[in-house]
Amino acid sequence: MSIKAENIKYIYSEGTPFRTVALDDVNVEIKEGDFVGIIGHTGSGKSTFIQMLNGLELPTEGKIIVDGTVVGEDKKKLRAIRQMVGLVFQYPEYQLFEETVAKDVAFGPMNLNLPQAEIDKRVKESLELVGFNYDKIKDASPFDMSGGQKRRVAIAGVLAMKPNYLILDEPTAGLDPAGRNEIFAQIKKLHDKSGVTVVLVSHSMEDIAKIANRVIVLYKGKIHMQGTPKEIYSNAEELKKIGLGIPQIAEIANELRKKGFHIKSDVITVEEAKVEILKELRRRKNV
Ligand code: ADP
Ligand code: MG
Repeated sequence: MSIKAENIKYIYSEGTPFRTVALDDVNVEIKEGDFVGIIGHTGSGKSTFIQMLNGLELPTEGKIIVDGTVVGEDKKKLRAIRQMVGLVFQYPEYQLFEETVAKDVAFGPMNLNLPQAEIDKRVKESLELVGFNYDKIKDASPFDMSGGQKRRVAIAGVLAMKPNYLILDEPTAGLDPAGRNEIFAQIKKLHDKSGVTVVLVSHSMEDIAKIANRVIVLYKGKIHMQGTPKEIYSNAEELKKIGLGIPQIAEIANELRKKGFHIKSDVITVEEAKVEILKELRRRKNV
């Protein structure tokens, strides 16, 4: 089971002076269980790309294949694909509109014409998956909640469709540090607990380093690099060339290495850096 993108090209406003090639020659495989981080500057094609993963947009050239089905080939299958690939837009809280949290989360499953008991079960499970106490939150108004909480309600609404893949477009955009941490902690837990495959779009290397097991770097509509976070961050020069940083701790480790510290080249978390630095200090004391 996977989502494959094969030779994707996407052109906006073809045949007009506004013609924009948003994506070109993109090849990606998102495997079941992965936590994929997509990173790139504004305008690099991130949002365009993820809107093709559930058939909201169809590629100008190339194919998206979801669990073996080519998206858009059979229009009748689009509905099933959209249910399987859940897409959480940027600023999803703008799409909350019901007077209670429970009603909002129930909106998608209601449209699937499921029995009421199944809808209720899904609403409860989804709210709990994003870290809410169902009984406490179900009758609250989404409009009285904090930014981070509203976003978690919006994510629960997509989870209630029981997608196999959860795609999130800049889920922490515009939140304060507490809200960002809240969202990231919940998404990480959700991935660990439910096993749903996650694709998370961000322009923060710090965020992606902490959470993803595969990283895709988009630059001007093309894949610039892809690999594990360690593979990506050990190639700091390449990232700097395109104006993307590496996590600060990886930067510090690189600087120490240049100063003659023996520290491995793929440090990406503070914890790993601590172990490496202490090892080196001990070694120096003993020589
Ligand atoms: P990102 O999400 O990485 O910021 P986008 O996918 O939004 O990037 O944009 C990729 C490119 O496509 C940019 O050059 C952007 O200006 C262009 N673009 C995005 N949406 C539209 C649109 N609706 N019409 C025309 N061009 C667009
Ligand atoms: Mg975008």
